[in-house]
Amino acid sequence: AASDHSPRNSSTRGWALQQAAAEVLPGGVNSATRYVGHPYAFGGGDGAYVVDLDGNRYLDYHAAFGAILLGHNSPVVDDPVRDAVGKLDLFGLGVTELEVELATRVTEVIPSAEMMIATMSGSEATAQAVRLARAATGRQLLVKFQGGFHGWHDAVARNVISRPELAYGRDPLSAGILDAALESTLIAEFNDLDSVRALFEQHPERIAAVIMEPIPHNVGALVPTQEFVSGLRDLTSAEGAVLIFDEVITGFRHALGGYQEICGVQPDLTTFGKGMANGYPIGGLAGPRSLMERFDGQKGDVLLAGTFNGYALGATAAIATIEHLRANPDFYTRTHALGARIRDGLTSIVAELDLEATVAGYGGVFSLYFAAAPIRGYRDLMRNDNQAYAAFHRRMTDKGFLMIPMSLKRNHVSGSHTDADVDRTLEAARDVLAAMK
Ligand code: PLP
Repeated sequence: AASDHSPRNSSTRGWALQQAAAEVLPGGVNSATRYVGHPYAFGGGDGAYVVDLDGNRYLDYHAAFGAILLGHNSPVVDDPVRDAVGKLDLFGLGVTELEVELATRVTEVIPSAEMMIATMSGSEATAQAVRLARAATGRQLLVKFQGGFHGWHDAVARNVISRPELAYGRDPLSAGILDAALESTLIAEFNDLDSVRALFEQHPERIAAVIMEPIPHNVGALVPTQEFVSGLRDLTSAEGAVLIFDEVITGFRHALGGYQEICGVQPDLTTFGKGMANGYPIGGLAGPRSLMERFDGQKGDVLLAGTFNGYALGATAAIATIEHLRANPDFYTRTHALGARIRDGLTSIVAELDLEATVAGYGGVFSLYFAAAPIRGYRDLMRNDNQAYAAFHRRMTDKGFLMIPMSLKRNHVSGSHTDADVDRTLEAARDVLAAMK
């Protein structure tokens, strides 16, 4: 039976708000992936927990798609933001000390970064990265991987979680995308260097950039082989194309220097967002001076504009997050250890119950695929049983564990989760999975 964590009856405040929302917001939400058939309506958050309008408390692994890195309403970030309110708002001329400090911090911690620009979101960062790559190479085509998500703009909004009949083919995420934009983005298979090589052979000297999530977390966690990332670096360099690591999820989460620090491969450009400011909107793009100087309004030729770019509260939150991570490297040992405990625990449960499921992840991130191993690339993910994941998600929600609702995506351990939280999660998951057999 549904517990009190299941506000599925029409008398709840969550239900009422969802009804009111449907009148004034298309689909009742401000971002399409927030509606999942359950009247989620939150009223607050604290550390690893969120509370809905009906007072139900959930242990949060959704973490706002990973934007919550340290925990909800972390004083580490909120206190300096509160101090900043009422001092700096917005000027529209020149630069603030905060903007210089943020760019300095980013260039100190990200191995490939010599200069950085601040945007308001991850999508803006990837849009700027793609345009810069096109300007720098004088080429038009972009390569992305099936399953990779890089935001909502025309160049990248295609082929994420594609149905099998559309995978690798024409699969826009939206109506209204320019045909030319769709045709200019080519699709390769993650962890398959030959699929990228083949595109360079088919389109000689026409590919401006390869953009990749170093771990494609938008389809869970496909961890790259070292051969693949190193091979991509060599291939793009040899072909004169720009290699873009979209570290909007992996950045600051898996290591202070992002996944590039972990794999030892340096991209040309890196994009950031999400966890960088623990829930405050900010994104960024970093790279070598030679490329980034194209954004110089006097000497360059690529437009950098944005009324709110580098705004005070986002910059303050990002600086506070980065400084905290730098001063507390145990954030990484702790979240990685908790993530490993969850993955190991789930793996044992899956084996014990003899389920056709595979546990994946990296660091503090974990996914449960309802498909048998091995899962190496998107091709293997097409075997995933989406109905089974939906049932798992719903039953975990009913028990007070908020996981990512979309099949395939990933769950996040924040700096506020504890060993006791993990114990309770594994206990609940064992009950749910046993009941689903
Ligand atoms: N890149 C990656 C890897 C993402 O996961 C996302 C968002 O989910 C984006 C870019 C876009 O970021 P935003 O939603 O801040 O525009």
